[in-house]
Amino acid sequence: MRVGILALQGAFAEHGAVLDRLGVSHFEIRQRRDLEAPFDALILPGGESTAMGKLLRDLDLFDPLRTSILQGLPVFGTCAGLILLARDVEGGVPCFGTMDICARRNAYGRQLGSFHTEEIFDGLGRIPMTFIRAPYICSVGPKTRILASVDGRIVAASQENMLVTAFHPELTDSLAVHQYFLNMAA
Ligand code: GLN
Repeated sequence: MRVGILALQGAFAEHGAVLDRLGVSHFEIRQRRDLEAPFDALILPGGESTAMGKLLRDLDLFDPLRTSILQGLPVFGTCAGLILLARDVEGGVPCFGTMDICARRNAYGRQLGSFHTEEIFDGLGRIPMTFIRAPYICSVGPKTRILASVDGRIVAASQENMLVTAFHPELTDSLAVHQYFLNMAA
């Protein structure tokens, strides 16, 4: 298993550290030629979704990555990565738009921008969740499976080859969500 981590901006290094702990080989995607060697799964990290969307297009990464996702490449989007995959974005513009969810950007307001909690994640039990100026999922389509909610707001979901979390599992000690994604990808 070889995992590509989009490394244009944001919290990409932390995902690499989690994969190191899990003993999974990974590489950073910074430019078009990084896509030349085959890989088995993709991580879209947290950061600033508008900046990442612009860089994806400027660097000619948007089309090949979107095509791969549509063809079934397993992809895990955290926070801004969730926004990049959402079909509809409140407070922003869709990017890949491959997942049948509506994301509300900066949904917790400035004051409540960052918080930590523990909640049930379907199949994993109670796990730590760190939110940083996070979105939440305001609606899902018929093929989307809801995996976690906090205070009645959807914060994790999957659909076919796509997994998204509004929180940052890579900023906690728990490896559970990454392991969940790797099982999905295997
Ligand atoms: N607020 C950011 C955005 O809208 C996401 C924050 C994050 O990824 N931690 O892109």
